[in-house]
Amino acid sequence: MHAQIQLVAQALARAERILVITGAGLSADSGLPTYRGLGGLYNGHTEEGLPIEAALSGPMLRRDPALCWKYLAEIGRACLGARPNAGHFALAELQRRKPGCWVLTQNVDGYHRAAGSPVQRLIEIHGELSPLFCMDCRQRSFELAEHLQRPLPPRCDRCGGVLRPPVVLFEELLPEAELGRLQTQLALGFDAVLAVGTSASFAYIVEPVLRARRGGGFTAEINPQAGELSAFVDVHLEGGAADVLPQLIRHISSDKI
Ligand code: NAD
Ligand code: ZN
Repeated sequence: MHAQIQLVAQALARAERILVITGAGLSADSGLPTYRGLGGLYNGHTEEGLPIEAALSGPMLRRDPALCWKYLAEIGRACLGARPNAGHFALAELQRRKPGCWVLTQNVDGYHRAAGSPVQRLIEIHGELSPLFCMDCRQRSFELAEHLQRPLPPRCDRCGGVLRPPVVLFEELLPEAELGRLQTQLALGFDAVLAVGTSASFAYIVEPVLRARRGGGFTAEINPQAGELSAFVDVHLEGGAADVLPQLIRHISSDKI
């Protein structure tokens, strides 16, 4: 493992443009449940016997907002109750040292921002949990935390409509602005792509890795389990994000970059 960490560190030290793709596994080390894979909360079904993808979907939010909110609130409480970990801080440090380093995250917990990742080089492709807005009159409402104290689903104080967070639910489209920023950066190319704690269930997560590979770039993965991506990356570091990322950053000595 040590030699492999050194290999990845050397490749990142040489690279100018780096894309780090993060998923629920990074925040698993903050105590948040992942969806799939190791520590997955919903490897089976919800109490209602639904796949989590159905409970947390755009159509379900409209059809049965209380049911969808039951799981949104669970995610919300978990995110508000934990903090970024050493992995998030190590990535923010990498971005400080490498002005061409971008983070593309599927997480909605806001921990990259909290750890100091610059918003200019952070793409939150699945949105964020706050502030809530009204699905009927679009009024932006209070922070999530205040609404979690009240009966669910949260309601708009102006029109009584159901409030929702600006997250991307299953079966919803990705935010155009974020997608545009991602496409612009992908078109410019990356010398190295590092995937951290993602089961890579979406094409737009796998694509940047394949693209870097095709272009002769370096690819690596940090995940305690082998998965979809492992066969496509140059190096798979089999470990937890909060453990491996700080080691990796320590190996990227400042004289090399
Ligand atoms: P996922 O749950 O599908 O996969 C998590 C991956 O992390 C798995 O491959 C697992 O083996 C790995 N993992 C587990 N512990 C790890 C650790 N300590 N270090 C590194 N890797 C570890 O997550 P995903 O690929 O991000 O996709 C799931 C969807 O769920 C996304 O759409 C995301 O928006 C959402 N989600 C977000 C959060 C959050 O914001 N923190 C939490 C759960 C789910
Ligand atoms: Zn309203």
